[in-house]
Amino acid sequence: MCYMCRASDEDAKHLFNDCTQSKTITSKALLALQISEPTQSSQGYIEMMVVDKTITTTTRETIVTTNFIIWKERCNRIFRDTTKTTQQLVDEIIEMRRRDGRLQTSINMDHG
Ligand SMILES: [Zn+2]
Repeated sequence: MCYMCRASDEDAKHLFNDCTQSKTITSKALLALQISEPTQSSQGYIEMMVVDKTITTTTRETIVTTNFIIWKERCNRIFRDTTKTTQQLVDEIIEMRRRDGRLQTSINMDHG
């Protein structure tokens, strides 16, 4: 079972591409960071980034960060029995991207 949405079987494609909760986290993080969401292909984000050379570095790094946070949360739910809210996870992604220092300083934090 998928520990993010608890509504589907879990595999990598589901967790990173099809899971409704993962999708929500990704959309909210991209929106808060003022990055337009790339149209997701049926192969999912990772394969899409390999194929589509027009996707910017900022977008790529943010998607990789998002996938890392989703994976970390999934493992925490399974092995540590802790659960963060969608908003906490989005905030964590934004913090990581801000610390990266390559983003504009004027990131809109009013993403509630
Ligand atoms: Zn799921």
